[in-house]
Amino acid sequence: ARQFFVGGNFKMNGSKDSIQSIVQNLNSASLPSNVQVVIAPPAPYLVWASEHNKQPTVEVAAQNCYDKASGAYTGEVSAVALRDLGIPWVILGHSERRIIFKESDELIASKTKFALDSGLKVILCIGETLEEKKAGKTLEVCKRQLEAVLDVVSDWTNIVIAYEPVWAIGTGLAATADDAQEIHKEIRKFLSTAIGSQAESVRILYGGSVSGKNAKDFRGKDDVDGFLVGGASLKPEFVDIIKSRE
Ligand code: 13P
Repeated sequence: ARQFFVGGNFKMNGSKDSIQSIVQNLNSASLPSNVQVVIAPPAPYLVWASEHNKQPTVEVAAQNCYDKASGAYTGEVSAVALRDLGIPWVILGHSERRIIFKESDELIASKTKFALDSGLKVILCIGETLEEKKAGKTLEVCKRQLEAVLDVVSDWTNIVIAYEPVWAIGTGLAATADDAQEIHKEIRKFLSTAIGSQAESVRILYGGSVSGKNAKDFRGKDDVDGFLVGGASLKPEFVDIIKSRE
């Protein structure tokens, strides 16, 4: 069985005070011992958050890193530096990176490979835009984004996939549980054509307007192995999402 996973992507939000209170809220909650939780504060707060976290089931992720260990890459975050600081996870391929910062499938694949080789675990985001959805290209886009990574990575043990349809992000308009299940199932099927039975153990998260209210709707959906949460991860309802399978 795949362990239920809840990620919190803070994006470029928060201050010392607000991030400390989010972490303390998690520290004081009685979290289910069988749910893996990963919070991703902005880079300047990674160590701060990591030092304040006292929950054994909570780990910290960066929101991005580069595909080189060090060198003349002004402004970039090194996967090796993250490991050095004890940050075990990184989110890669988020649609905001793909769209706003023009990251290509190939760059994201290369960063994924480098992060894994550096000893990080990766939350790999994929998902179609509204335009692509309307054109019936949802699966095609997800496959293309995965294919780039499959070309360079064969061991998917340390990858968690997050299916985040762009039209659902920050809109309050989440995919329905049935629709998410359907696409997750197709994603897993595609994955299994490339990596065989390994695909059965890869977690596939849903992301896009997940809230304390709608998280429970996804219960019983076999291929929805958790969530990647944006806005709601900054609020106390994040705990309700973590507990949504209880
Ligand atoms: P929201 O939960 O705010 O829609 O964001 C989802 C997301 O992008 C998580 O990475």
